[in-house]
Amino acid sequence: MTGSGFPFSAVVGMDDLRLALVLNAVSPAIGGVLVQGEKGTAKSTMVRALAAVLPQVRAVTGCRFNCDPAAPDPECPDGPHGTRAPELTRPSRLVELPVGATEDRLVGALDIERALTEGVKAYEPGLLAAAHRGVLYVDEVNLLHDHLVDLLLDAAALGTCYVEREGVSVRHAARFLLVGTMNPEEGELRPQLLDRFGLTVEAAAPRQPGTRAEVVRRRLAYDDNPAAFRAAWSDEEAGLARRIAAARARLPGVVLPDAALRQVASVCAAFGVDGLRADLVTARAAMAHAAWEERPEVTAEDIRVAARLALPHRRRRQPFDAPGVPDDELDRALEEAMDDDGPDDDGPDDDGPDDDDPGGGGTSGTNPKSMSPNGPEPTANGSADSQQQAGRDASADHRDPKNHGDGAGNGNGNGNGDGDGNGGRELPAAPPGSVFRVKRLDLPGAGLGAPGRRSRSRSGDGRVTGARPPQGRLTRLHLAATIAAAAPHQLARGRTTPSAPLVVRRGDLREARLEGRESNLVLFVVDASGSMAARSRMGAVKGAILSLLIDAYQRRDKVGMVTFRGSGAQLLLPPTSSVEAAAARLAALPTGGRTPLAAGLLRAREVLRTERLRDPRRRPLLVLVTDGRATGGQEPLASAHRAATLLAADRVASVVVDCETGLVRIGLAAALAATLRGAVLEPGELAAGPLADSVRMIRKAA
Ligand SMILES: [Zn+2]
Repeated sequence: MTGSGFPFSAVVGMDDLRLALVLNAVSPAIGGVLVQGEKGTAKSTMVRALAAVLPQVRAVTGCRFNCDPAAPDPECPDGPHGTRAPELTRPSRLVELPVGATEDRLVGALDIERALTEGVKAYEPGLLAAAHRGVLYVDEVNLLHDHLVDLLLDAAALGTCYVEREGVSVRHAARFLLVGTMNPEEGELRPQLLDRFGLTVEAAAPRQPGTRAEVVRRRLAYDDNPAAFRAAWSDEEAGLARRIAAARARLPGVVLPDAALRQVASVCAAFGVDGLRADLVTARAAMAHAAWEERPEVTAEDIRVAARLALPHRRRRQPFDAPGVPDDELDRALEEAMDDDGPDDDGPDDDGPDDDDPGGGGTSGTNPKSMSPNGPEPTANGSADSQQQAGRDASADHRDPKNHGDGAGNGNGNGNGDGDGNGGRELPAAPPGSVFRVKRLDLPGAGLGAPGRRSRSRSGDGRVTGARPPQGRLTRLHLAATIAAAAPHQLARGRTTPSAPLVVRRGDLREARLEGRESNLVLFVVDASGSMAARSRMGAVKGAILSLLIDAYQRRDKVGMVTFRGSGAQLLLPPTSSVEAAAARLAALPTGGRTPLAAGLLRAREVLRTERLRDPRRRPLLVLVTDGRATGGQEPLASAHRAATLLAADRVASVVVDCETGLVRIGLAAALAATLRGAVLEPGELAAGPLADSVRMIRKAA
């Protein structure tokens, strides 16, 4: 069996990624892989090549929802399939979800018009149906529209795709191996989605010249003659596919001994992971690795391999900690679990009732017998057990020095990456001043963004303000208006008795016209340079920003923050819905140095461009906190105005919070606001209602 693209086994290097994909191929219940790395590593090539080495799939012939003939989905829209439905065997499928896909493309489209007018449930399956029992691959998964992320998370959690429009609903099974690739420089992944991925790996281009040359050599050979290249690798591919299939067959027999389970719990506890999902994924990956290595039972080596892949994105860490799981810490945790492995003192642990698969939703072959540690409630008991384990095995003084504590993240104002600053004396971070309720800053016009409480919206989630004939596909029926439109024609359509059903034609349909409020992206661009850095004043400015942040949270906005000081600008917080993260980074914000205002504005523009790709309907509001000064480089002030002109040309709505102080004020910030075609406010004007003391403080300080 060969695929149609670059062969999986011909990809050079990237051993972690190869192993992570193989383990998932052996045990899809592990839950997929997230691959992080810069552009130009062959990470996408390798992922796309995976399908060709996956075991073949048996499916019901003609079913668009990939039903398994052995256990067809009872709710399959193409069903019900009889017990003797014709079946076929075909290669496993890799379905790619484009970042800009519509909701209909992902979950499928239900034709509400035909449902109402013809009584037919016409349903066109989407990518989730196509990916069922295969791989769903999302390149640039961090840029995926929030709305699609929600749908994807729902489907992944339930193993079901559920579509409903106006009371007409369709559901079908959707279990798939989720693989995502991303370049972290382009933005963070939402934590819920990050947690969905069983394993994570970092992919980097190889450094050794010999390896790099081999990568290029193979790529050239492939591009020159793909068919010949594939033929040359077909034995290798077939061998790998056989080995994966054999490991998958072996997996149900792999035993996870109690001592190994204890090691899993100990390792997870030592790295301070939240919840029990990490333990499950680590155990599953360790069992898959044992099956892959043809071992009958899980060893410490299997657990080490599994933990390295399962824990990096789950360990509690500070924003600037190095990624990954350090080997020495891993060794220590494994050893400590062994030391404790004396005569057992924490209760029965063999042969409990054994048919619970604690994670649910898995598609194949973990061995429930060896997974349930004790008793009828494996999940809860396992949790308590691993907590105890944590207290005993991994003592507090073992964990604390490595920053695994659960501090809120303040006070860690180290290493923001630009503390070096040419001429930038760094001042201690000023604590934020007190917060106050701010007035609503909103965008002109009405948008189509996700529901929220900031700007006016024309999208489908607000109050019904009227009815109209459908514009495109009907999504929100206005029933009363539809009946009213149909009513005058009933006699002409042959409805003669009151008990006869209402005759509705397509032209009668009316959709609801809605108006509500949308949420926005509020991007703060904050001057953290020396000119703003007088300590008390920066504290008050932080208080004002914090107030805006809390307001943004209440209005369900996304927030991001760019700061500029010293030698340049930095994205302190990629757009996120986590206001806690924003507040923590704001509190620790170092200040001092020159004022590269233009760099700050250009960085903001870059962030907004990326974000527009990810979420085109979410309109941004740029909040520039500055005194209008610019220093450093050539013509600093003119450059800043040029950058502002670009933002204005992109039609970015903006508000300048003018922090200029002193008796003689020269209006630099107001001039910049004019170039941005934005509003200008003094900090005191941000407050809703009477001025808070903290705001007055900004005026006084200088
Ligand atoms: Zn089916």
